[in-house]
Amino acid sequence: ERLNTELEDTNRGVVALYAELDGRAEQLRQASELKSRFLSNMTHEFRTPLNSILALSRLLLDRVDGPLAPEQERQVSYIRRSAESLTELVNDLLDLAKVEAGKLEVQPGLFTVSELFGALRGMMKPLQQNQAVELVFEEPYGLPPLMTDEAKVAQILRNLISNALKFTERGEVRVSARLERPGQVIHFVVADTGIGIAGEFHEVVFQEFSQVANRLQGQAKGTGLGLPLSRRLAELLGGTLTLRSAPGAGSTFTLSLPAAPAAASGVSPAGAAQ
Ligand code: ADP
Repeated sequence: ERLNTELEDTNRGVVALYAELDGRAEQLRQASELKSRFLSNMTHEFRTPLNSILALSRLLLDRVDGPLAPEQERQVSYIRRSAESLTELVNDLLDLAKVEAGKLEVQPGLFTVSELFGALRGMMKPLQQNQAVELVFEEPYGLPPLMTDEAKVAQILRNLISNALKFTERGEVRVSARLERPGQVIHFVVADTGIGIAGEFHEVVFQEFSQVANRLQGQAKGTGLGLPLSRRLAELLGGTLTLRSAPGAGSTFTLSLPAAPAAASGVSPAGAAQ
């Protein structure tokens, strides 16, 4: 009899606990939705004035109304660069908010790695300002065309390559791709000979607003959003983004993706992977 009463009490306790947990989960979900909505509204509001600042500073620098004095030109360049990095931050924030809210869509298409590397080479070359660092794209021989979201793959690789160039003083930044059979997983690899990242920071760098090297080097650059966003994008594409690195030994970031994610694309993987 006593045992029964105790059991019933326990049962009631468990039920109440579940109800409370449910309530908490709902509260958390609402809070998280509110956060996403706030972030995306806010970033939208930031964009309009930023675009004016950018457009007008470019106009001034293009000297439509006659040449600027050297000092003015320096100042306007600074305004433009600041507006550019703020735009980058706002875009990254908006993308992060969208991924978290499940609102960033995958837009699959068929493309070759050669084409992708060609486009990236053109885009990234201007960033390679240090003569002591070479940016190398390995020609991807024998890779089948891929069926995935090319713009998002390019966005991730741009992030990785610009980081690699930023944190490498001499040597090279090497971009390559290889197919893993029989899993049909494509690995994109961005390897640098830069300062490297200590093991204790390997997870930290994927967290929002973390800038390890700033602590190491005492320099403030970037937003600390590039890697977290890149990892979320990789996951959105059904893949992973991993890091192998040691201080002084360079860093290797690997983006691994299903070579033909048929489920996401609705297109037969057989056709895409031949
Ligand atoms: P950001 O580059 O804008 O600071 P990221 O999220 O892209 O933000 O990178 C976070 C931090 O990870 C960087 O500030 C840096 O400390 C470290 N990091 C990223 N890529 C590299 C790299 N290739 N080599 C060394 N450190 C890196």
